[in-house]
Amino acid sequence: MSTEKSVVMMGTDVAKAMKEELIQRVEELKSEGILPHLAIVRVGERPDDLAYERGAIKRMELTGIACSVFELSENICQEEFEAEFRKVNDDPKIHGILLFRPLPKHLDEEPIKAMIHPMKDVDCMSPVNIAKVFSGDETGYAPCTPEAVMEMLDYYDIDLTGKKVTVVGRSMVVGKPLSMLMLKKHATITVCHTRTKDLAATCKEAEILVAAAGKAKMISEDMVGERAVVVDVGINVDDDGNMCGDVDYDAVVRKASYISPVPRGVGSVTSSVLAKHVVRSAEYFRSK
Ligand code: NDP
Repeated sequence: MSTEKSVVMMGTDVAKAMKEELIQRVEELKSEGILPHLAIVRVGERPDDLAYERGAIKRMELTGIACSVFELSENICQEEFEAEFRKVNDDPKIHGILLFRPLPKHLDEEPIKAMIHPMKDVDCMSPVNIAKVFSGDETGYAPCTPEAVMEMLDYYDIDLTGKKVTVVGRSMVVGKPLSMLMLKKHATITVCHTRTKDLAATCKEAEILVAAAGKAKMISEDMVGERAVVVDVGINVDDDGNMCGDVDYDAVVRKASYISPVPRGVGSVTSSVLAKHVVRSAEYFRSK
Protein backbone atom coordinates (compact mmCIF):
# COMPACT_ATOMS: atom_id res chain seq x y z
CA MET A 1 0.00 0.00 0.00
CA SER A 2 1.22 3.50 -0.85
CA THR A 3 2.63 5.57 1.99
CA GLU A 4 1.58 8.80 0.27
CA LYS A 5 -1.12 10.62 2.21
CA SER A 6 -4.50 11.11 0.61
CA VAL A 7 -6.03 14.50 0.01
CA VAL A 8 -9.33 14.97 1.82
CA MET A 9 -11.73 16.76 -0.52
CA MET A 10 -13.56 19.15 1.78
CA GLY A 11 -16.95 20.21 0.48
CA THR A 12 -16.82 23.14 2.86
CA ASP A 13 -13.76 24.52 1.00
CA VAL A 14 -15.46 24.05 -2.37
CA ALA A 15 -18.57 25.85 -1.08
CA LYS A 16 -16.43 28.72 0.22
CA ALA A 17 -14.76 29.24 -3.15
CA MET A 18 -18.13 29.11 -4.92
CA LYS A 19 -19.56 31.64 -2.46
CA GLU A 20 -16.84 34.20 -3.23
CA GLU A 21 -17.59 34.00 -6.95
CA LEU A 22 -21.37 34.07 -6.49
CA ILE A 23 -21.30 37.08 -4.17
CA GLN A 24 -19.67 39.11 -6.97
CA ARG A 25 -22.29 38.03 -9.48
CA VAL A 26 -25.10 38.84 -7.03
CA GLU A 27 -23.59 42.28 -6.40
CA GLU A 28 -23.54 42.94 -10.12
CA LEU A 29 -27.19 41.96 -10.45
CA LYS A 30 -28.14 44.11 -7.46
CA SER A 31 -26.38 47.10 -9.01
CA GLU A 32 -28.84 46.70 -11.90
CA GLY A 33 -31.80 46.53 -9.50
CA ILE A 34 -32.21 42.74 -9.70
CA LEU A 35 -32.39 40.70 -6.50
CA PRO A 36 -31.93 36.96 -7.19
CA HIS A 37 -34.75 35.16 -5.39
CA LEU A 38 -35.29 31.49 -4.55
CA ALA A 39 -38.75 30.17 -3.66
CA ILE A 40 -38.90 27.00 -1.59
CA VAL A 41 -42.22 25.19 -1.90
CA ARG A 42 -42.78 22.73 0.92
CA VAL A 43 -45.85 20.57 1.46
CA GLY A 44 -46.08 19.44 5.09
CA GLU A 45 -43.20 19.29 7.57
CA ARG A 46 -41.00 16.29 6.84
CA PRO A 47 -37.86 16.52 9.03
CA ASP A 48 -35.55 15.87 6.00
CA ASP A 49 -37.18 18.74 4.09
CA LEU A 50 -36.91 21.07 7.07
CA ALA A 51 -33.22 20.22 7.53
CA TYR A 52 -32.46 20.85 3.84
CA GLU A 53 -34.55 24.02 3.94
CA ARG A 54 -32.51 25.42 6.85
CA GLY A 55 -29.27 24.75 4.96
CA ALA A 56 -30.62 26.28 1.75
CA ILE A 57 -31.89 29.43 3.52
CA LYS A 58 -28.50 29.89 5.22
CA ARG A 59 -26.63 29.41 1.94
CA MET A 60 -28.84 31.96 0.13
CA GLU A 61 -28.33 34.46 2.98
CA LEU A 62 -24.55 34.03 2.84
CA THR A 63 -24.62 34.67 -0.90
CA GLY A 64 -27.01 37.65 -0.79
CA ILE A 65 -29.87 35.79 -2.50
CA ALA A 66 -33.44 36.38 -1.27
CA CYS A 67 -35.33 33.27 -0.20
CA SER A 68 -39.06 32.79 0.47
CA VAL A 69 -40.65 29.65 1.84
CA PHE A 70 -44.15 28.73 0.64
CA GLU A 71 -45.41 26.28 3.21
CA LEU A 72 -48.47 24.33 2.12
CA SER A 73 -50.68 22.13 4.23
CA GLU A 74 -50.03 18.40 4.04
CA ASN A 75 -53.73 17.99 3.23
CA ILE A 76 -53.81 20.41 0.31
CA CYS A 77 -55.79 19.09 -2.67
CA GLN A 78 -54.25 18.69 -6.13
CA GLU A 79 -56.15 21.62 -7.63
CA GLU A 80 -55.18 24.04 -4.88
CA PHE A 81 -51.59 22.78 -4.92
CA GLU A 82 -51.28 23.42 -8.64
CA ALA A 83 -52.85 26.88 -8.24
CA GLU A 84 -50.40 27.80 -5.47
CA PHE A 85 -47.47 26.49 -7.47
CA ARG A 86 -48.60 28.41 -10.55
CA LYS A 87 -48.60 31.67 -8.57
CA VAL A 88 -44.97 31.12 -7.54
CA ASN A 89 -44.00 30.03 -11.06
CA ASP A 90 -45.58 33.12 -12.63
CA ASP A 91 -44.09 35.61 -10.16
CA PRO A 92 -41.46 37.62 -12.11
CA LYS A 93 -39.60 38.42 -8.87
CA ILE A 94 -38.85 34.73 -8.36
CA HIS A 95 -35.92 33.26 -10.30
CA GLY A 96 -35.67 29.74 -8.93
CA ILE A 97 -38.05 27.22 -7.37
CA LEU A 98 -37.17 24.30 -5.14
CA LEU A 99 -40.04 21.89 -4.55
CA PHE A 100 -39.42 19.26 -1.90
CA ARG A 101 -40.16 15.73 -3.06
CA PRO A 102 -41.50 13.16 -2.64
CA LEU A 103 -44.85 14.85 -2.27
CA PRO A 104 -47.55 13.37 -0.03
CA LYS A 105 -49.04 10.30 -1.75
CA HIS A 106 -52.33 11.97 -2.77
CA LEU A 107 -50.50 14.61 -4.84
CA ASP A 108 -49.30 14.09 -8.42
CA GLU A 109 -46.05 15.86 -9.32
CA GLU A 110 -46.35 15.26 -13.08
CA PRO A 111 -48.41 18.43 -13.79
CA ILE A 112 -45.85 20.44 -11.79
CA LYS A 113 -42.94 19.01 -13.78
CA ALA A 114 -44.72 20.05 -16.96
CA MET A 115 -45.68 23.48 -15.58
CA ILE A 116 -42.43 24.70 -14.01
CA HIS A 117 -40.58 27.26 -16.14
CA PRO A 118 -37.42 25.40 -17.21
CA MET A 119 -35.24 28.41 -16.30
CA LYS A 120 -36.75 28.52 -12.79
CA ASP A 121 -36.32 24.77 -12.41
CA VAL A 122 -33.10 25.05 -10.40
CA ASP A 123 -33.32 21.49 -9.05
CA CYS A 124 -33.94 19.77 -12.41
CA MET A 125 -37.44 18.29 -12.25
CA SER A 126 -38.66 19.52 -15.66
CA PRO A 127 -38.31 17.01 -18.52
CA VAL A 128 -36.67 19.86 -20.46
CA ASN A 129 -33.75 20.04 -18.03
CA ILE A 130 -33.50 16.28 -17.69
CA ALA A 131 -33.30 15.94 -21.49
CA LYS A 132 -30.60 18.62 -21.59
CA VAL A 133 -28.48 16.74 -19.06
CA PHE A 134 -28.81 13.55 -21.08
CA SER A 135 -28.06 15.26 -24.39
CA GLY A 136 -25.01 17.09 -23.03
CA ASP A 137 -26.62 20.52 -23.43
CA GLU A 138 -25.25 22.76 -20.68
CA THR A 139 -27.87 25.51 -21.05
CA GLY A 140 -30.21 23.80 -18.55
CA TYR A 141 -29.79 22.85 -14.91
CA ALA A 142 -28.47 19.49 -13.75
CA PRO A 143 -29.70 18.11 -10.43
CA CYS A 144 -27.75 19.78 -7.62
CA THR A 145 -26.04 16.72 -6.11
CA PRO A 146 -24.41 15.36 -9.29
CA GLU A 147 -23.31 18.88 -10.18
CA ALA A 148 -21.87 19.22 -6.65
CA VAL A 149 -19.69 16.16 -7.38
CA MET A 150 -18.49 17.84 -10.60
CA GLU A 151 -17.74 21.08 -8.72
CA MET A 152 -15.72 19.13 -6.19
CA LEU A 153 -13.64 17.31 -8.83
CA ASP A 154 -13.09 20.59 -10.64
CA TYR A 155 -11.98 22.41 -7.47
CA TYR A 156 -9.39 19.68 -6.81
CA ASP A 157 -8.22 19.76 -10.46
CA ILE A 158 -9.19 16.17 -11.12
CA ASP A 159 -9.40 15.74 -14.87
CA LEU A 160 -11.91 13.18 -16.08
CA THR A 161 -10.68 12.87 -19.66
CA GLY A 162 -10.16 9.21 -20.51
CA LYS A 163 -10.48 8.13 -16.87
CA LYS A 164 -12.13 4.89 -15.85
CA VAL A 165 -15.02 5.88 -13.57
CA THR A 166 -17.35 3.60 -11.65
CA VAL A 167 -20.57 5.08 -10.27
CA VAL A 168 -22.43 2.91 -7.75
CA GLY A 169 -26.13 3.84 -8.00
CA ARG A 170 -28.38 4.54 -10.97
CA SER A 171 -31.08 6.83 -9.55
CA MET A 172 -32.38 9.84 -11.45
CA VAL A 173 -31.32 12.03 -8.51
CA VAL A 174 -27.65 11.06 -8.47
CA GLY A 175 -26.23 8.07 -10.41
CA LYS A 176 -27.68 8.49 -13.91
CA PRO A 177 -27.34 12.28 -14.30
CA LEU A 178 -23.86 12.18 -12.75
CA SER A 179 -22.82 9.55 -15.31
CA MET A 180 -24.00 11.87 -18.08
CA LEU A 181 -22.14 14.88 -16.66
CA MET A 182 -18.97 12.79 -16.43
CA LEU A 183 -19.41 11.41 -19.93
CA LYS A 184 -19.62 14.99 -21.16
CA LYS A 185 -16.17 15.46 -19.59
CA HIS A 186 -14.89 12.44 -21.58
CA ALA A 187 -14.73 9.87 -18.78
CA THR A 188 -15.37 6.18 -19.50
CA ILE A 189 -18.24 5.29 -17.20
CA THR A 190 -19.48 2.07 -15.66
CA VAL A 191 -22.74 2.37 -13.70
CA CYS A 192 -23.38 -0.26 -11.01
CA HIS A 193 -26.59 -1.22 -9.20
CA THR A 194 -28.07 -4.06 -7.16
CA ARG A 195 -27.91 -6.50 -10.11
CA THR A 196 -24.25 -5.82 -10.90
CA LYS A 197 -22.48 -9.17 -10.82
CA ASP A 198 -19.03 -8.45 -9.48
CA LEU A 199 -19.40 -5.11 -7.78
CA ALA A 200 -16.12 -5.34 -5.86
CA ALA A 201 -14.03 -5.99 -8.99
CA THR A 202 -15.81 -3.26 -10.97
CA CYS A 203 -15.20 -0.75 -8.19
CA LYS A 204 -11.57 -1.79 -7.83
CA GLU A 205 -10.86 -1.19 -11.53
CA ALA A 206 -11.96 2.43 -11.26
CA GLU A 207 -9.56 5.35 -11.24
CA ILE A 208 -12.45 7.42 -9.90
CA LEU A 209 -15.07 5.70 -7.76
CA VAL A 210 -18.33 7.41 -6.84
CA ALA A 211 -20.53 5.80 -4.19
CA ALA A 212 -24.20 6.82 -4.36
CA ALA A 213 -26.06 3.73 -3.16
CA GLY A 214 -27.31 4.83 0.25
CA LYS A 215 -25.75 1.86 2.10
CA ALA A 216 -23.66 2.72 5.14
CA LYS A 217 -19.95 1.95 4.68
CA MET A 218 -20.60 -0.61 1.89
CA ILE A 219 -17.41 0.35 0.01
CA SER A 220 -14.67 -1.46 1.87
CA GLU A 221 -10.94 -1.02 1.39
CA ASP A 222 -10.59 -4.13 -0.78
CA MET A 223 -13.09 -2.66 -3.28
CA VAL A 224 -10.90 0.38 -3.94
CA GLY A 225 -7.96 0.51 -6.34
CA GLU A 226 -4.59 1.78 -5.16
CA ARG A 227 -4.54 5.65 -5.27
CA ALA A 228 -8.08 5.88 -6.65
CA VAL A 229 -10.14 9.05 -6.26
CA VAL A 230 -13.12 8.24 -4.04
CA VAL A 231 -16.21 10.45 -3.93
CA ASP A 232 -18.82 9.55 -1.32
CA VAL A 233 -22.33 10.86 -2.01
CA GLY A 234 -24.12 8.62 0.50
CA ILE A 235 -25.80 10.03 3.58
CA ASN A 236 -26.57 7.33 6.11
CA VAL A 237 -26.69 6.75 9.83
CA ASP A 238 -24.33 4.11 11.26
CA ASP A 239 -25.00 1.65 14.10
CA ASP A 240 -23.92 4.28 16.65
CA GLY A 241 -26.38 6.83 15.27
CA ASN A 242 -23.69 8.94 13.56
CA MET A 243 -23.94 10.28 10.04
CA CYS A 244 -21.75 8.34 7.61
CA GLY A 245 -21.30 7.80 3.90
CA ASP A 246 -21.34 4.72 1.68
CA VAL A 247 -17.57 4.40 2.03
CA ASP A 248 -15.75 2.84 4.98
CA TYR A 249 -13.79 6.08 5.30
CA ASP A 250 -11.27 5.10 8.01
CA ALA A 251 -10.07 2.11 6.00
CA VAL A 252 -10.29 3.61 2.50
CA VAL A 253 -8.56 6.90 3.41
CA ARG A 254 -5.27 4.97 3.65
CA LYS A 255 -5.56 3.79 0.05
CA ALA A 256 -7.21 6.60 -1.91
CA SER A 257 -5.33 9.50 -3.51
CA TYR A 258 -8.31 11.80 -2.94
CA ILE A 259 -11.37 11.09 -0.80
CA SER A 260 -14.44 13.09 0.22
CA PRO A 261 -15.68 12.72 3.80
CA VAL A 262 -19.25 12.52 5.13
CA PRO A 263 -20.27 14.90 6.60
CA ARG A 264 -18.55 18.04 5.16
CA GLY A 265 -18.17 16.43 1.74
CA VAL A 266 -20.46 16.51 -1.30
CA GLY A 267 -23.49 17.40 0.84
CA SER A 268 -21.85 20.72 1.77
CA VAL A 269 -21.64 21.73 -1.89
CA THR A 270 -25.24 20.93 -2.91
CA SER A 271 -26.83 24.13 -1.62
CA SER A 272 -24.04 26.18 -3.26
CA VAL A 273 -24.97 24.63 -6.60
CA LEU A 274 -28.58 25.59 -5.89
CA ALA A 275 -27.45 29.18 -5.24
CA LYS A 276 -25.42 29.14 -8.46
CA HIS A 277 -28.50 28.05 -10.41
CA VAL A 278 -30.60 30.87 -8.92
CA VAL A 279 -27.95 33.39 -9.91
CA ARG A 280 -27.78 31.96 -13.45
CA SER A 281 -31.55 32.22 -13.69
CA ALA A 282 -31.54 35.86 -12.53
CA GLU A 283 -28.84 36.59 -15.14
CA TYR A 284 -30.95 34.87 -17.80
CA PHE A 285 -34.13 36.83 -16.96
CA ARG A 286 -32.15 40.11 -16.83
CA SER A 287 -31.75 39.95 -20.59
CA LYS A 288 -35.43 39.11 -21.25
P1 NDP B 1 -31.80 5.59 -4.36
O1 NDP B 1 -32.21 4.66 -3.26
O2 NDP B 1 -32.83 6.23 -5.20
O3 NDP B 1 -30.81 4.78 -5.34
C1 NDP B 1 -29.80 3.97 -4.85
C2 NDP B 1 -29.09 3.32 -6.00
O4 NDP B 1 -28.03 2.54 -5.48
C3 NDP B 1 -29.97 2.38 -6.82
O5 NDP B 1 -29.65 2.51 -8.18
C4 NDP B 1 -29.59 1.00 -6.30
O6 NDP B 1 -29.67 -0.01 -7.28
C5 NDP B 1 -28.14 1.20 -5.91
N1 NDP B 1 -27.75 0.32 -4.82
C6 NDP B 1 -28.32 0.24 -3.59
N2 NDP B 1 -27.72 -0.72 -2.86
C7 NDP B 1 -26.75 -1.24 -3.65
C8 NDP B 1 -25.82 -2.26 -3.46
N3 NDP B 1 -25.73 -2.94 -2.32
N4 NDP B 1 -24.98 -2.56 -4.49
C9 NDP B 1 -25.05 -1.87 -5.66
N5 NDP B 1 -25.93 -0.90 -5.88
C10 NDP B 1 -26.77 -0.58 -4.89
O7 NDP B 1 -30.86 6.66 -3.66
P2 NDP B 1 -30.41 8.13 -4.17
O8 NDP B 1 -29.73 8.02 -5.47
O9 NDP B 1 -31.51 9.09 -4.00
O10 NDP B 1 -29.32 8.48 -3.07
C11 NDP B 1 -28.15 7.72 -2.92
C12 NDP B 1 -27.42 8.18 -1.68
O11 NDP B 1 -27.05 9.53 -1.85
C13 NDP B 1 -28.29 8.15 -0.41
O12 NDP B 1 -27.46 7.82 0.69
C14 NDP B 1 -28.77 9.57 -0.27
O13 NDP B 1 -29.04 9.90 1.07
C15 NDP B 1 -27.56 10.31 -0.78
N6 NDP B 1 -27.87 11.64 -1.30
C16 NDP B 1 -27.01 12.62 -0.96
C17 NDP B 1 -27.23 13.89 -1.38
C18 NDP B 1 -26.21 14.93 -1.02
O14 NDP B 1 -26.49 16.12 -1.15
N7 NDP B 1 -25.01 14.54 -0.62
C19 NDP B 1 -28.42 14.27 -2.13
C20 NDP B 1 -29.20 13.13 -2.60
C21 NDP B 1 -28.94 11.87 -2.14
P3 NDP B 1 -31.07 -0.46 -7.99
O15 NDP B 1 -31.36 0.61 -9.01
O16 NDP B 1 -30.76 -1.78 -8.60
O17 NDP B 1 -32.08 -0.52 -6.89
